[in-house]
Amino acid sequence: MTVNNASTTNEKSKTKLKISKPSKDAYGCLYCRTAASFKGQTERMPKTCPTLTHSTLTKETSAYMQESLRTMMQAADKTPFTSDRVLRNRVEELIFYCHELGLKRIGIAFCVTLMTEAQKLAKLLGEAGLDPISVCCRVGAVDYSKIGLPKTHPDKFAAICNPVAQGKLLNLAQAELVVQVGLCLGHDMILQQTCEAPVTTLVVKDRVLDHNPVQALRQPDSSSQ
Ligand code: SF4
Repeated sequence: MTVNNASTTNEKSKTKLKISKPSKDAYGCLYCRTAASFKGQTERMPKTCPTLTHSTLTKETSAYMQESLRTMMQAADKTPFTSDRVLRNRVEELIFYCHELGLKRIGIAFCVTLMTEAQKLAKLLGEAGLDPISVCCRVGAVDYSKIGLPKTHPDKFAAICNPVAQGKLLNLAQAELVVQVGLCLGHDMILQQTCEAPVTTLVVKDRVLDHNPVQALRQPDSSSQ
């Protein structure tokens, strides 16, 4: 299924993609029409394919032989399908991955606008035998003025998003994996910098596209019309 989707998307991009003036050192992936690396078809790779131009780097696999990465790669490989070859949705994948790696304490860093969804996630994780611990983005109730951010209504309280506190609280709680649910772009990066545990994204915030930003990448390309 994943393979078919990748092919379909690539077929669409063949007719619609136009990158204006790529920089001289751009890797071929920027404008590639073949994705030939997917099938190991060297002869179809563009001359600027990093598989060809940086073969020492791209063929180097010793990192995956280290225990931690090897375990993660093996778990990730098993995650998409059940043993009956039925696809898992992303929440099901998350639960499977946690079980596969023996992760129990799962941090949830969520946006206040997705509190209901984050609490549903915690419920599902709990029912799956995991130990969820959640922190809301507005934790601390710190006013915008405290860090010099402008406010629409200066006379009223407005809480900043507080990804540093979210991360620190999840560190304190010894989260083994952190799931971010709908944090703002930028705040998600601060969370990742702060968390000691790996951070995975379950929900990407997109206020316009119902948190599904890939929709913006599937619009017809106006430059090719
Ligand atoms: S790695 Fe090479 S073949 Fe694969 S998408 Fe990039 S340029 Fe194309």
